[in-house]
Amino acid sequence: MYLRPGFILRLMAGIYIHIPFCKQACYYCDFHFSTSLKNKDSILSAIETELVLRKNEIRDTIETIYFGGGTPSLLNTSEIERVINLIRKNFKVTEFPEITLEANPDDLSKNKLDELSRTPVNRLSIGVQSFFDEDLSYMNRAHNSRQAMASMEYASKWFDNISMDLIYGIPQLSEERWVKNLEYTFDFKVEHISSYALTVEPKTALDHFIRKGKYKAPSEALAEKHFKLLQELTGAKDFIQYEISNFGRKGYFSTHNTSYWKGAKYLGVGPSAHSFDGTQRSWNVANNARYMKSIEKGELPSEIEKLTVEDRINEMIMTGIRTIWGISIEDIVSNFGETYKNLLMQQAEKHLKTGSLYNRENHLILKPEKYFLADGIASDMFLIKV
Ligand code: SF4
Repeated sequence: MYLRPGFILRLMAGIYIHIPFCKQACYYCDFHFSTSLKNKDSILSAIETELVLRKNEIRDTIETIYFGGGTPSLLNTSEIERVINLIRKNFKVTEFPEITLEANPDDLSKNKLDELSRTPVNRLSIGVQSFFDEDLSYMNRAHNSRQAMASMEYASKWFDNISMDLIYGIPQLSEERWVKNLEYTFDFKVEHISSYALTVEPKTALDHFIRKGKYKAPSEALAEKHFKLLQELTGAKDFIQYEISNFGRKGYFSTHNTSYWKGAKYLGVGPSAHSFDGTQRSWNVANNARYMKSIEKGELPSEIEKLTVEDRINEMIMTGIRTIWGISIEDIVSNFGETYKNLLMQQAEKHLKTGSLYNRENHLILKPEKYFLADGIASDMFLIKV
């Protein structure tokens, strides 16, 4: 599928809200969350205070709101609506923003979905990960296969913009079962799939179990086989792989995530949330108690990193190479000048020669067959500060 490199031209500003609670810890997860829900109300109040404190940080119109985590579906619908109303009151928000809620299958009862469908949330991102109990208990997910199936069945009745998460590369996940997972997904009314390989992050339970010999380490070769099947089968069902790990039908790409990859400004609130104002990144402390304490004092619990030109270009390489739109050479020239464009082209030369990369309409685009090697190719192209 060919999409003009400028397919999404406008950069859309967004707000990300991190809900730092989960029912139980998935063994592979290194996101910030707490399994004790006792401070849920206070954290939510602190998030609301942070939104007000930072209301002048983004003056652009907000076009996307994203509840991520953690597990945002642990919030009840009045809490979700309260946050959305507060955003509307304090920021300039477009009339019909994309509002995504990440949800876990065990939270999506018929009743909850019915209630959610009456809120302004118009996109669900459901963390199914697998339809098989063997995989779900291997990962210590809080739901089982019956809940995975039921949540998808109910959700398709109430929502028409559903994204589903799937994990591949699990050591015990046979090719047959992986194909079955994809077939089940296609049977539901899913317009978008986010699918990532199981990775072993330092200090996670999975890392510990592998070190102790209790769990087998995931193999790159198996992940690559699963990834190829994923590309092939989603392609046959008219999903467009618009980013290495994201597959959407036409009209259903995630606007929020696409804006991240295209370098739009976003405000991230809540513990551990990251923000980008166009030139610098900041991130909140990944600790619920310290976050609340700081917000109570009216102080932002964040660190700021001013990005160098090289950092910004490297980020454009890292994110651009993973998308169907590639790295915009025009953007490099207009933001940083011809010298940097020439440096980038030198770095890219080797991969242009082998045909892994090609230049179309002034965009460096990675061939989908080479997506599995994207991280290595991107780091080959990184500019080093001289
Ligand atoms: S539900 Fe999501 S955020 Fe929570 S532990 Fe599992 S993977 Fe991590």
